Amino acid sequence: MKLPPFDYACPKTLSEAVALLASHDGEAKPLAGGQSLVPMMAFRVAAPALLVDLRKLEELRRITIADDGVTLGAMVRWRDILDDARLRTAHPLLVAAVEHVAHYQIRNRGTVGGSIAHADPAAEMPGIAVACEAQIVVVGKAGERSIAAENFFEGPLMTALKADEIITEIRFPAWPAQRRWGFREFSRRRGDFAMAAAAVFYDVDDTGKAHNTHIGAIGVGDRPVRLTDAEAEVNGTVVDVAVSERAGRAASASVDPQSDIHVSGAYRKSLIGTMVERALQSAADQKVI
Ligand SMILES: Cc1cc2nc3c(=O)[nH]c(=O)nc-3n(C[C@H](O)[C@H](O)[C@H](O)COP(=O)(O)OP(=O)(O)OC[C@H]3O[C@@H](n4cnc5c(N)ncnc54)[C@H](O)[C@@H]3O)c2cc1C
Repeated sequence: MKLPPFDYACPKTLSEAVALLASHDGEAKPLAGGQSLVPMMAFRVAAPALLVDLRKLEELRRITIADDGVTLGAMVRWRDILDDARLRTAHPLLVAAVEHVAHYQIRNRGTVGGSIAHADPAAEMPGIAVACEAQIVVVGKAGERSIAAENFFEGPLMTALKADEIITEIRFPAWPAQRRWGFREFSRRRGDFAMAAAAVFYDVDDTGKAHNTHIGAIGVGDRPVRLTDAEAEVNGTVVDVAVSERAGRAASASVDPQSDIHVSGAYRKSLIGTMVERALQSAADQKVI
């Protein structure tokens, strides 16, 4: 289908981009990789009067790795993450999740900021941001603000972003080298959106017991969530098969997914338990040097 008519701007500075969005009273939208926005326009789900292309904003394409964590510029593409060897130790869970995002062509254009702003409940990056307690940094005409990922996603394709705001970066807290982690996703075909996915990590104390457990669920609600009941099953234990199974059961019990054209809610409810169990088992089986 042909796109509806729209105007196009390609600003060279962030402040120019914000000014363009602010001057269009909600009728303008940022364009990043176009991998979600352009199909939505083709299907007439979105019809912005102006597209503000962010591709010349080089400052949004940086990946920064520092003692206090990993920061991804909003225009960092999936391919940039997979090509950056530093991230495999600086944030292995992030890389493992991105390996499940879409296909080569889409990874070459799709961006982390676009995915966060699009807020698909079955997308990997929003789920990882919530599981890892990332901060989403945005800039608008009122200045900069930082929003905790758990407060950013408000429903399917709905976020706390205002019409004049642009996501500039996503900040992930530091990742200790000894941390245990696992990511498991089930989708119909490799590269499809998740039917259900689990992102887990925990730290281990001197006695081998888990603490600081984080379990994030993708694809089982209207937004990505942390599964605190499942986390409670893990904290204070030496993670083994029995603990993973208990956490999996707690995960299933704590979600109430809707049925849709792909699969029934009951199937997703069962599936997230299996994903959590397997992700925890792969975390427990990791060789930590
Ligand atoms: C066939 C196919 C399969 C896919 N499979 C997956 C998958 O398995 N997992 C997955 O996670 N994704 C998948 N995607 C989506 C893909 O990852 C998109 O790239 C991503 O969702 C949006 O990123 P984008 O850069 O293309 O954003 P765009 O399409 O350009 O924009 C998406 C939305 O975000 C807004 N936006 C973009 N950048 C910003 C910013 N910096 N600040 C504020 N708002 C902004 C736009 O205005 C728009 O509303 C798939 C896409 C396709 C076409």
